[in-house]
Amino acid sequence: MTRRPFEQDRPVPGPERPEAPSGGEPRAARKPAPPEAPVRMGRRRFLGGALAGGAGVVALGAMGERLAGGAQPAVAVQSSPSVPAAHQWAMVVDLRYCNGCKMCTTACETAHYLHADQTWIDVFTMTNAAGENYFMPRPCMMCEDPPCVPVCPVSANFRTAEGITLVDQSRCIGTRICMNACPYQARYFNWGNPRPAPRQPFPQEPSWPVPQVKGTVGKCVFCAAMLPSGKVPECVAKCPMGVLYLGDLESDVAVNGLGATVKLSDFLAENDAVKFKESYGTHPRCYYIPGHGQDLETDTETA
Ligand code: SF4
Ligand code: SF4
Repeated sequence: MTRRPFEQDRPVPGPERPEAPSGGEPRAARKPAPPEAPVRMGRRRFLGGALAGGAGVVALGAMGERLAGGAQPAVAVQSSPSVPAAHQWAMVVDLRYCNGCKMCTTACETAHYLHADQTWIDVFTMTNAAGENYFMPRPCMMCEDPPCVPVCPVSANFRTAEGITLVDQSRCIGTRICMNACPYQARYFNWGNPRPAPRQPFPQEPSWPVPQVKGTVGKCVFCAAMLPSGKVPECVAKCPMGVLYLGDLESDVAVNGLGATVKLSDFLAENDAVKFKESYGTHPRCYYIPGHGQDLETDTETA
């Protein structure tokens, strides 16, 4: 039976889950709640950004080196109103080229030691009005007004100064309210133990929540810990079709895993990019470039 994309907007984890939450395993002492620092990107500022010179990967890399070389933390969790963040991250999904191979999903799960059903980026099979199938990758939309954040009773969800919504799993108490609040089904619950993970390149923190923590909620993090060193997220890097672009609204540049660099605002405007479920008021920072005949708001999800 067909259904509209993400029809189950208010998922309630059901009996398919292997075991009920045990109330959470013993956790480390709660850290203070990271201050929420919403950073809004006005249209004028977005469209007025200038293309940073050079190839995108190089440009992003150079920006990352500046960050990595300084005293700044890997992921800024707050910003001063007088000191704007260096980046405002976004993602572009060029639906015209997605072949549904799910290498993005696999690469993400491999890098973050996730179970197979913990899809930080999922790929849905869709059917348009003409009955034709296409594929729709769905990472976290990194909403500018993320409904998942304010509903958390312990402030475990927060948005970084650079526009990335994260979960502090050392604070999460597993209420799953945020899962119900997300209209994109971008969150899941860790019902069981995580996959064992070897020593990681980054500390276990919200920007690199590896391994995951039983009894908490997980989601896509845009590989936030990797961005300061100029690396694009795993899904972007491993997509063989160049479908996924990491974008920076601040420098107005986007790059994909094939090395293509575009001026972000032009790329979006010239290709009639759309946002998904804009009517929800979430202001997602994930942009979709539809192909012929695709309408994300009315097409049905078939797999
Ligand atoms: S790896 Fe690229 S082509 Fe394959 S499903 Fe993901 S976005 Fe589509
Ligand atoms: S897509 Fe869902 S999880 Fe991601 S920021 Fe938006 S509401 Fe939160």
